[in-house]
Amino acid sequence: MPRQAMLIDMNRCVGCGACTIACQEEWGLPDGITRCWVEPIKPGAKPGELIYTHYVGMCNHCEKATCIEACPTGATYRDEKGRVRVDEETCIGCGYCVDACPYGARMLRKDVGLVDKCDLCAARTDAGLQPACVETCPAGARFFGDLDDRESPVSKYLLRHNVRRNETRKVAIGPRVFYAGDDDVLDRIFTEHPPDPQRIVPPVQGAIMQKILRPFFFVFAGLALAGQGIAYLRQLTGKPDKDSAADESQRVKRREMPAVWLHWFNALVWFFEVITGFALLSTGGYRVTPGFFNEAVLAVFGSRGVLLDFHVTAGIVWTVVLLAYATFGYRNYLKPFLRSLVPRREDGAWLRTWAARALLRSNQELPPQGKYNAGQKLFGMVLCAGTALVIASGFIMYLMPASGWPVRWAIPVHFAAAAMVVIGLIVHLYMSLFVPSERPALVSMFTGYVPESYAVSHHRLWLEETADQGIDEDKLPPGEKTKASPQGG
Ligand code: SF4
Ligand code: SF4
Repeated sequence: MPRQAMLIDMNRCVGCGACTIACQEEWGLPDGITRCWVEPIKPGAKPGELIYTHYVGMCNHCEKATCIEACPTGATYRDEKGRVRVDEETCIGCGYCVDACPYGARMLRKDVGLVDKCDLCAARTDAGLQPACVETCPAGARFFGDLDDRESPVSKYLLRHNVRRNETRKVAIGPRVFYAGDDDVLDRIFTEHPPDPQRIVPPVQGAIMQKILRPFFFVFAGLALAGQGIAYLRQLTGKPDKDSAADESQRVKRREMPAVWLHWFNALVWFFEVITGFALLSTGGYRVTPGFFNEAVLAVFGSRGVLLDFHVTAGIVWTVVLLAYATFGYRNYLKPFLRSLVPRREDGAWLRTWAARALLRSNQELPPQGKYNAGQKLFGMVLCAGTALVIASGFIMYLMPASGWPVRWAIPVHFAAAAMVVIGLIVHLYMSLFVPSERPALVSMFTGYVPESYAVSHHRLWLEETADQGIDEDKLPPGEKTKASPQGG
């Protein structure tokens, strides 16, 4: 891979700032935003400080760029010419990379909601031109080219002059901006403008995601998978579960069709959002899925920009559908569903018995339950809270880029909420797909009905309460002796 670089001869630089102006004009940058800048260094009182010079700053296109590691969306990347660049389609303006640049070479642009920095005039140099700053410099102090090409201006100058890089023992990330000049001049510049060792990591929000949330996700997802694996082994080696799906002579209406449709719509959205969301987390410190998975998803979508657009669009459609459901179906569907999640006294007994059975300490029958048992209620609450947090934090990132702390915190919240739901989904999917005695519940997610025997064994309290409230004859399936729930959920 080529390694494009810049060299600035500080013996030639006169500090006129023409490079700064040329850069701003070339890229139409607003006031206060500079991709390269010149700062005078005035002589000090001590002997080693009796030098008048300048610091010329810009992105160093570092070999071990800390900004790339800090970017949660993969918007900051190294291109095929070795330049560190920002993909505007994927940048969400969180500013994590700004905090992680020890040279202060990145700026958040509130006017466009993105981060900005030097890209070595990629558009110009790819067209065979010199970077605007190199072309403009009246002192001929700047040199540009590929370090791997011995004939490039930068390689030739490097070989013939005293050249150093602005790095320290604590910040040795291989900057590819070289400074030529006398040692005392370079010493003065590097002493006045050393790279900041505090700024080589993302801000606290990124660190929380990398160091706490990601490991926790691996641990809990691993425990959930292991738990389901053990349950499956016990299933294989124990007495076969009674599959009550066969008993369909009497059926009970458990779900209304709008709730069934919403369930499958939610399932579809979560499927696509989890896949695309995890594929977007492609940098080492944030990545939760294997590299080949991320690359495969990226190959399907074509580019990271399209991937992010899909993720966002699916989220917007999801929000609209959920809002419509909550608005028009509040009385008939949402309110009864939320009420059925409220904890009841029997939930504690169910949890204790379930835990004892899971730990092989008891064979006691699970106590009778309402419409949902305590485990299902817990998953329902996680799903509702997770969905609300994912949508709220997603909208903050989408609508408020470069807003500072709101978008910074939205990223770990978005990840934590999604991770929480994914862990719950692992158990939910296992129960639905692999436990024969739960098959009627899965079938009811298509038909709306469960066999009465299943309702008796799993949700007797709900069945009794339903019977007390009477049967809605309109909800009976034609020609069947059926009990019906007053309201679905
Ligand atoms: Fe990244 Fe800063 Fe190095 Fe440029 S100078 S590559 S922005 S760490
Ligand atoms: Fe990546 Fe955020 Fe920097 Fe954009 S602002 S490049 S998303 S770290």
